[in-house]
Amino acid sequence: MQHQPVLLVTGASRGIGAAVAVKAAAAGWAVAINYLSNAVAAEAVAKAITENGGTARLVQGDTGTEDGIAAIFAAIDRDFGRLDGLVNNAGVVDQTARVDEMSRERLERMFAINVIGKIRCASEAVKRMSTRHGGKGGVIVNISSMAAVLGSPGQYVDYAAAKASIDTFTVGLAREVAGEGVRVNAIRPGIIDTDIHASGGLPDRARDLAPTVPMQRAGTADEVAEAVLYLLSPQASYVTGAILNVSGGR
Ligand code: NAP
Repeated sequence: MQHQPVLLVTGASRGIGAAVAVKAAAAGWAVAINYLSNAVAAEAVAKAITENGGTARLVQGDTGTEDGIAAIFAAIDRDFGRLDGLVNNAGVVDQTARVDEMSRERLERMFAINVIGKIRCASEAVKRMSTRHGGKGGVIVNISSMAAVLGSPGQYVDYAAAKASIDTFTVGLAREVAGEGVRVNAIRPGIIDTDIHASGGLPDRARDLAPTVPMQRAGTADEVAEAVLYLLSPQASYVTGAILNVSGGR
C-alpha cells in the first residue's frame, strides 16, 4: 500500500498557512498543522480538513526556539513516522518603526522566528527527507515576501532583511540538496489580506495599499496557497531554487 505523503505547515492556524493546509489536504497530503498559541483556530483548520475526509494533526510548537522545533519534529515522528514536505510559513512582523527605533530584543525575535527558525525547520526536514540520510526525497517551500526586494522603509526594514535572507537561503539550500531528492523553492507574497497587518499595528494595511498594487487589489491567502501547491506538486518536478512572486505585479 502506498503511504500518504506527510506535509508540515508551520504557522497554519490562520492566514496563508491555514489556506495551504486545507488545499494540501484536498490534494492528498496528510497535514501537520503547526501553531504557536491559537489552539482554537488550529483546531478549526484541522476540523475543516477531517470533515472533508482529509488527514490532519495539530502540532503545537514555537519555531523561534530550539525546544519548540524539537517538539514539532518529535510529534511528526511519533504521529506520522515520516515527512515528505515542509512549508516554512510561520513568520511575524513587529510594530512599524524606523531603524533608529529598533531594539536588539526586537531584532533577535524577528530573526529567531523569520530566519533561524526557518533554517532549523529545513534542517530537520532535510534529515528526514534527503536520500543522503536514508529518506525518500521531498519538497520545501519557504514563504518569503516582496519586502525582500522592496526593503519596507519606514515600516520594518528588519523584516525585509530577514526575508531577503530566506531568498538567499532558498537558492543555496536548493543547490545543496538537489542531488538528494529534495526540491526547495520560495514564494514572495505581496500585500495579502490576513491578520498579520493588525499584528504590526496596521489593521487596514491591505485595504490602504491595494490601490498601489498594479492589479489594484490585495491578494488572498488562497491565491498564495495555489502557488505553494504547485511548487509542492509533481508538476513542479524540475523546479528548484526558484522564487515566485505572488504579488499582483507589486
Ligand atoms: P498571520 O495571519 O499573522 O499568521 C501567522 C501564523 O504563524 C499563525 O498561524 C501563528 O500562530 C503562526 N506563528 C507566528 N509565530 C509563530 C512561531 N514562533 N511558531 C509557530 N507559529 C507561529 O500571517 P500570514 O499573513 O498568513 O503570513 C504567513 C507568512 O507569509 C509569513 O511568513 C509572512 O511573513 C508571509 N507574508 C505575508 C504577507 C501578507 O501580506 N500577509 C506578505 C508577504 C509575506 P498562532 O495563531 O498560534 O499565533
